[in-house]
Amino acid sequence: MIKAIFFDIDDTLYDTSGFAKLARKAALNAMIAAGLPLTHDDAYILLREIIKEKGSNYDQHLNVLTKRVFGEENLLLVAIGMITYHNVKFALLRLFPETMSTLIHLKAQGYNLGVISNGLTIKQYEKLVRLGLHHFFDSVITSQETGVEKPDINIFELAMGRMGCKAENAVMIGNSFSDDIQGAINAGMSAIYLTPQLTASEKEYINKSNGKIDIISDIGEIKNKM
Ligand SMILES: [Mg+2]
Repeated sequence: MIKAIFFDIDDTLYDTSGFAKLARKAALNAMIAAGLPLTHDDAYILLREIIKEKGSNYDQHLNVLTKRVFGEENLLLVAIGMITYHNVKFALLRLFPETMSTLIHLKAQGYNLGVISNGLTIKQYEKLVRLGLHHFFDSVITSQETGVEKPDINIFELAMGRMGCKAENAVMIGNSFSDDIQGAINAGMSAIYLTPQLTASEKEYINKSNGKIDIISDIGEIKNKM
């Protein structure tokens, strides 16, 4: 019997990838308008290279970008890019349409709700607070806090320990098959995979999982399952 439900944040509770791309593009346009001597396409390619190199949680991508272009940082352009990025990001930050009603439904059913997220604690809390979701969760655990990232089973075990639940009473919901789903299964939990479609290797893994993995294409479908 399921008592605790854990969620991933990014691209599970809200559309992260869509807004991040638009916000980055807007930031570069503002920097180009203010004198960054690159075409939009070249600037976007360079920024993506830097993000890939430094990781998405690094907070000085634009500093590095100006340094690569000018040989030294241009902090005025960095400030222009950062402000535009944040303004666009917050303007576009929206839940998936069914997220709020799903969390309300699960709370009303008496489930304990938690978050297990790879990322910086302050950034992940900022998202939950801005989205108005932080009151729903009894426990929020991040990879920064635990020192290990999903799919490491330790992060799932720490989250269950904090929630006071056993793996057989816990389910993980997420959009990353390797991080959220395989990680949870390896930790003994069940899992609900949020995805528009399955790859052949995912299908094979799911068939071997003895019914411990459910599939949904919209977060609202959880309401019919729990
Ligand atoms: Mg995710």
